[in-house]
Amino acid sequence: MSGWLAIIGLGPGSSAQITPEVTQLLSEATDIVGYESYVHRITSRNPAVRHLSGNRVELERAYQALNLATDGKNVALVTSGDPGIFAMAAAVFEAVDAGPKTWRSLDIRVLPGITALLAASARTGAPLGNDFCAINLSDNLKPWALIEKRLRLAIDGDFVIACYNPRSNARPNGFAKVLKLLQRETDRKRTLIFARAVSTKHEHIQVIPLEDCRPDMADMQTLIIIGNSMTRIIETTGQPWVYTPRSVDPEKSQ
Ligand code: SAH
Repeated sequence: MSGWLAIIGLGPGSSAQITPEVTQLLSEATDIVGYESYVHRITSRNPAVRHLSGNRVELERAYQALNLATDGKNVALVTSGDPGIFAMAAAVFEAVDAGPKTWRSLDIRVLPGITALLAASARTGAPLGNDFCAINLSDNLKPWALIEKRLRLAIDGDFVIACYNPRSNARPNGFAKVLKLLQRETDRKRTLIFARAVSTKHEHIQVIPLEDCRPDMADMQTLIIIGNSMTRIIETTGQPWVYTPRSVDPEKSQ
């Protein structure tokens, strides 16, 4: 008898931001599969077998989870944030699409989690209050030219832009190129949010104008929100609030 495979999101870091549905499922799993630092986050007392893997082996991890479920295990495949956003859910469906027919009768579920852009937005106010998009700045799986094209088009459409995976040791220079592109194509006063390790004890939030941004402000734990032409800051006695108004002046929207 086959088991099930649940692809679950652990949220941005804090255990308070894991959904009750995910907590329940983790208590029922016989096997937990995932990138080691995500699996280490799980505090569940369930003695499930833990299968840890490195960061860049998504397809192998997907095969492992599918094979375990085929063997009758109840498998929780864990990701940070939401499993459908630059994470394992797409890798599993790529594997199913190309894999044996038997995988198509497996019980597969995807359980949502709080993605980094929602956690970062809530910390800073309402920067996503108008239309926005999300871009993965890693060129591991797509050409750099496409990233720049999508950024230019998003700027042209005046979207607020959330950037995942801005900078890593293996990709130290991409984000510097993004800043140069922004400086060419937008105004230097545009508001950027660098939200690092949101909801963890290492959380660090910076709200700064484009002209003061430096490439080293971003790393792999940072989510960047690039405000659009309407994004505003409200200074307060505490932290500043960032928001993007809901309405657009028809005169300015052409
Ligand atoms: N599935 C995840 C995203 C995985 S890609 C999600 O939905 O959030 C990894 C990227 O997510 C990181 O490089 C960073 O840009 C962002 N990220 C994940 N957790 C974060 C956190 N706690 N604070 C800020 N950014 C985070």
